Amino acid sequence: MRGQVVFRSSRNVIVLADGNSYRCDLAGRLRKKGRNPVVVGDWVEFNITSDAADVREGQVVSVEERKVWISRRRDVGKGRELILAANIDQIGCVFSVGFPTIKFGTLDRLLMAGCSREIPSFLILNKIDLGIPDEIEERLAIYPKIGIDLIRTSVVAGDGLDELAERLKGQATVLTGPSGVGKSSLIAHVLGIDIRISPVSDYNEKGKHTTTAVTWHPAADGSAIIDTPGFRDWALWGMDPGELAAAMPDLASVANRCHFRDCSHREEPDCAVRAAVEDGDIHPLRYRSYLGILDSVLQRQERKR
Ligand code: GDP
Ligand code: ZN
Repeated sequence: MRGQVVFRSSRNVIVLADGNSYRCDLAGRLRKKGRNPVVVGDWVEFNITSDAADVREGQVVSVEERKVWISRRRDVGKGRELILAANIDQIGCVFSVGFPTIKFGTLDRLLMAGCSREIPSFLILNKIDLGIPDEIEERLAIYPKIGIDLIRTSVVAGDGLDELAERLKGQATVLTGPSGVGKSSLIAHVLGIDIRISPVSDYNEKGKHTTTAVTWHPAADGSAIIDTPGFRDWALWGMDPGELAAAMPDLASVANRCHFRDCSHREEPDCAVRAAVEDGDIHPLRYRSYLGILDSVLQRQERKR
């Protein structure tokens, strides 16, 4: 039987097939195979061991090749990479006008993560019923110019919800952003599912809150929302300082003209990025974001030494 992994706990995975969820363990040879044998989003082949309506169980025997994935550093144990979710189509970065106010530095980090993994990303600005201040409006104008679609929404007033529904249709979307911006409200309105409640909550070990684990929420129309708590951990995982500019399309388009091949675009002479900022071709706030992200990646490297 073929199915898709929608949840993973320390002991087993939940596989969705033909509308039913099966709690599955892994065949022995899979457990030995590498550190991320089966992850959320994987397509797997499994044998059903119990098909009673109240106890559906099975064993995963093979995993199909992953297309794309997002990962973070492992907290414990050997092996650096912990894959959070695989086979996703796009990343929706959700922020709000107020409570909390959009942080563009955080947005730029998330966009960089998508870009470096070649996963299309877009921006959802929610709570526009609160009114968008001019300085936010001015800064928002940067994104469509660098190929990032912007969808303005209000759950309260109903703006943009059809546009969002269209964007999510048939896609597996990682929905990410700070808490309180309205992710759960948006998805409840647009897809009619509650992402705060795991579809497999029955299966979780006692005491473990479902919202702390990555969960794949299938919707009736074939689309899916992947909820990944703690985006701060995964956004910049595995990025080297030298790769950052390449993951910002506005910087990347000029960085190859810098005098030094390994230019960090800070103090070096003949830096094409700084020249473009001065000429107004790169927005100074995007450049400032780059410097902030570079700093945090450099600091993280220091700490690792
Ligand atoms: P999440 O943490 O991102 O899932 O955010 P929630 O969906 O739980 O929403 C956080 C708060 O923002 C709740 O009190 C919502 O009622 C409120 N909220 C959500 N969408 C909107 C909106 O479009 N406008 C306003 N004014 N408030 C909203
Ligand atoms: Zn440079």
